[in-house]
Amino acid sequence: MDGNSAVVVGGGIGGLAAAIGLHRIGWQVTVVERASTLEDAGAGISLAANGLRALDELGVGEAVRNAARGQYSGGTRTPRGRWLARMDGSALERAVGTPIMGIPRATLHRLLRDALPAEALLTGAEADSLQQVSPGTVRVDRSGTVLEADLVVAADGIGSPMRSRLFPAHPGPAYSGSTVLRAITEHPVDPGTDFELTWGPGAEFGHIAFPDGRAEWHAVLNLPAGTRFADPLAELRRRFGTWHDPIPALLDATRPTAVLHHDVHELRTPLPSYTAGRTALLGDAAHAMTPNLGQGACQALEDAVTLAAALATAPTVQAALAHYDAERRPRGQAVARAARQAGRMGQQLSHPVAIALRNTAMRLTPSRAATRMILRHHAWVPPRLN
Ligand code: FAD
Repeated sequence: MDGNSAVVVGGGIGGLAAAIGLHRIGWQVTVVERASTLEDAGAGISLAANGLRALDELGVGEAVRNAARGQYSGGTRTPRGRWLARMDGSALERAVGTPIMGIPRATLHRLLRDALPAEALLTGAEADSLQQVSPGTVRVDRSGTVLEADLVVAADGIGSPMRSRLFPAHPGPAYSGSTVLRAITEHPVDPGTDFELTWGPGAEFGHIAFPDGRAEWHAVLNLPAGTRFADPLAELRRRFGTWHDPIPALLDATRPTAVLHHDVHELRTPLPSYTAGRTALLGDAAHAMTPNLGQGACQALEDAVTLAAALATAPTVQAALAHYDAERRPRGQAVARAARQAGRMGQQLSHPVAIALRNTAMRLTPSRAATRMILRHHAWVPPRLN
């Protein structure tokens, strides 16, 4: 192998996972993160079997499972509470060894950070240029430091400056048509189930329960990009306050300042490659997708393990990158398409006739068929790192 040092741009879930993978195969790795403190400020996240298997390969699966809660019960409902589909976490567990697990993002992020040597993380450092020399060079601005490495991993998120530099003709992210508000409750609540999604016209409310009794909830609305509310919690009470239990109780258990509000963007135009020269794009930088399948971070974790395994076995960095692109691009782009489609048939649907047809189809779908559909994305087997 003609390389053993890497610079990872971005210290999100994808960048940290990539750094852990590289560290595990014996590479020297530096993570460059522009934020001054390294933490993922999002609310909660669900991890499916594919993401958890990737975490196992990175050596952090057990720690993540211990800090997460298995999502055994729940499903999809109408605003009046009628079940459209029930989720059977035990069936998933029998099929792929685990139910979906729910965990606060901050906890997942901390567990990933803990798996890296402290000196591998440079915070408050913005990568501002990428020179494709051989070996690859990335420039960190604050101190003017130049980090030279054999490989650069661009894990700099949906707005990826690295992607813009490497693919200047690519149009970048597009607005999905939906905006999302979310929070973690201030104190334990009893939502009755582990995980639910409720679909009304052009709107969704969902929750994930955590091991400590708190829950994360999210509300998705079809609205123009940039729409903001003076009092988000009051607006959500107005829109969702008459929906079934536990929705009003979840809103009541939330501090107004805890509500996060983001417009949902995605990389609708697929990238022609996940690599360019000695750079690999990974996570949202490569395939930002709508959150409708809960797969964005899981795909980033798959990317990380696949990249590290390719570098561990291929004769050259270029050969490893070719393998990474061939393995990851079809998969990541297929999951992104499926997520977009799930959003269109789910939360985004607003015409009453279309909603009635969808709801009938969902009620008539046998739970085994529904489980098979979920498993299509979850049944991924990672390459071995050790
Ligand atoms: P990011 O987390 O965006 O990290 C990029 C990092 O790069 C940031 O820390 C940024 O500061 C840094 N950076 C950017 N530019 C530079 C630079 N020039 N120099 C240095 N640093 C830089 N996925 C799931 O698997 N399950 C879920 O349940 C789920 N729920 C979701 C719910 C919502 C509402 C949303 C929006 C997404 C959800 N996702 C979910 C998707 C998931 O959150 C993302 O796919 C994942 O966090 C992407 O991680 P990343 O590391 O690629 O990017």
